[in-house]
Amino acid sequence: MDTKFDMTIAENYHSRAQIARVLTENWVAKNMFCPRCGNFQIKQFSNNKPVADFYCPKCKNQFELKSKAGSFAHKINDGAYDTMILRITSNQNPDFFLMNYSRTENCVKDLTMVPKHFFVPEIIEKRKPLSENSRRVGWVGCNIIIDKIPEQGRIKIISEGIFQDKNEVLNDVKKGELLIEKNISSRSWLMDILNIVNSINNEYFALDELYLYEDFLADKHPDNHNILPKIRQQLQVLRDKGFIEFLGRGKYRKL
Ligand SMILES: [Zn+2]
Repeated sequence: MDTKFDMTIAENYHSRAQIARVLTENWVAKNMFCPRCGNFQIKQFSNNKPVADFYCPKCKNQFELKSKAGSFAHKINDGAYDTMILRITSNQNPDFFLMNYSRTENCVKDLTMVPKHFFVPEIIEKRKPLSENSRRVGWVGCNIIIDKIPEQGRIKIISEGIFQDKNEVLNDVKKGELLIEKNISSRSWLMDILNIVNSINNEYFALDELYLYEDFLADKHPDNHNILPKIRQQLQVLRDKGFIEFLGRGKYRKL
């Protein structure tokens, strides 16, 4: 595998956006394996499918590519806000590839896969409606806030121009699959608690440390009036899924 773009493919294109799209999509079709099942390639949808850009011919999983020039981004532009939220809440979104590429070196710098089940409405930011000067006045787009996705859901494939080992990528995806929650409310809770556990800079932690987030979680989930039991319940879910271990007396260890 090579991080370089095939420049010959863009010879007949003129706009910057079109050239970027053609180069990055061509790169994925030529170089990317399926991070779900390990198939040696994924294929591009021939016509402009609204939901996804690529699919795996073996396991049929679908992927969408989002690319951006420059250094690693903390947020990435996506399409219409309402459509995105609808796709997430109805479990119809594909897995995402987030790509950062260099326009001067014409190569991929970073490539991260975000499996679909890590998407929750909280990571989607509403953008300002387009102004009256715009052709699509009032249209509301969205950003994906990458920092809000738990690290288990940001699977590195290329990092600063270096490929990760394919088996490691497949293992990371498999491990992440343990966190699948179809119900969007359960998924939001699980992602919140996982983010908090990830933010604790220690292998060992205590229940009290999570209780400190009671107000924060109450703000995010105003319909829930039993935040502390909910925290304990989500820790049980993380234990059952093999991400943490219960040591007793409100002590835990990350696995
Ligand atoms: Zn596959």
